[in-house]
Amino acid sequence: MLRSHGGGGRTLPSASLTRTSMTSSRRQRTHEQVLQVLAQHGDLTRAELGRLTGLSRSAIASAVTLLSDEGLLTEQTPVPAGTGARGRRPTVVALRRRPGVVLAIDFGHSHITAAIADTSGRLLAESSAALDVDSQPQQALDTATELAAQALARTGHTSGAITGIAAGIPGPLDIRTQAVRAPTILREWIGLNPAEELTRRFGQPVAIANDADMGARGEHTFGAARRIDDFLYIKASHGIGAGLVLAGRTYRGSSGIAGEIGHTHLEGATNLCRCGNRGCLETVVSITEVRRQLAHVLPTEHLSGQSGEARGEPPSLTELASRPAAARVITDAGRTLGLVLADLVNCLNPAAVILGGELSAAGEPLAEGVRESINRYAQPASANAVTITTSTLQQRSELLGAVATAIQQSAVGQVPSV
Ligand SMILES: [Zn+2]
Repeated sequence: MLRSHGGGGRTLPSASLTRTSMTSSRRQRTHEQVLQVLAQHGDLTRAELGRLTGLSRSAIASAVTLLSDEGLLTEQTPVPAGTGARGRRPTVVALRRRPGVVLAIDFGHSHITAAIADTSGRLLAESSAALDVDSQPQQALDTATELAAQALARTGHTSGAITGIAAGIPGPLDIRTQAVRAPTILREWIGLNPAEELTRRFGQPVAIANDADMGARGEHTFGAARRIDDFLYIKASHGIGAGLVLAGRTYRGSSGIAGEIGHTHLEGATNLCRCGNRGCLETVVSITEVRRQLAHVLPTEHLSGQSGEARGEPPSLTELASRPAAARVITDAGRTLGLVLADLVNCLNPAAVILGGELSAAGEPLAEGVRESINRYAQPASANAVTITTSTLQQRSELLGAVATAIQQSAVGQVPSV
């Protein structure tokens, strides 16, 4: 992913050439690991870098020296917090942040958000639009471009200030081609290469990833999964997907489509799913279905906002979840989601399950249902090892994951993988 650090144009015997290129590729991987860990965790000591990457002291020393020479890293002694500080303080290694801003785009099934952030991750401006993203890919890509221009204008910057761009896509992406796969899920996007399309529109490289993977990245960098290296991020909105982070890295499977848990079959469920099967998890627990169920148990005025409490706006899921009847519906949805997650907990033994997406606005009643099912159906040792929480990023996990990816691109000067 990074540019080659090997130099020279000498002609070498073939055996030496093979060994040299192997060494160079190993060194490249090492450098990539160091940069990725710094992009995710911020400033770190060499010892922390060693622990988080699993690399030896000498490998870290060599990588820090070479990457510093290339201007990608800096190493400095932190300023003491108080005047009385004594003793030798370890130096910290930091990514050399470029001046400028980054652009992050979050495509949902029914919305698009574009945001401009500085290179420390602070959001400066945001623009959103509601759109049927699934059935109008070209319009969605055009709208994203317009929203980005609006957000950028609000910051007072010009497009020349953008040093990294990343976007999350609400569908399976082929890891080998970056094209959208699985025609039964995002039918109108099949064969489209969103990275190429967006790169053409913005005139600079755009990193893309599946939205749940972006959400996991957002939680890992800025949210509930900071310094947790084995966790599941669940995006529960109009669709349901999982971002799997195992041993500190996103796990995408052999072709990039791991985590499509929304299409797990539920025994006894018969509703037709958008994938063509019946009884998928999404048909029972999507935000659309949960809102439909809430309509059964709440008076109409509570759902339409006519009660005066929301001044014409429908009340949020957070408000609805405070009502006992609604909380029961939401906890029940959590139990159903937890049935599927219990199997994943058994398989993967994560330290945390972080619930994100629009459904996570329901908060504790949702987490409680998930927890009940995991405690009931996962093996006790795995159930005891996992913490179930809702995201603290207020449905911006995917957007902030794109920010983190764009910052990495900005620091490294190349499109990173998520
Ligand atoms: Zn399905």
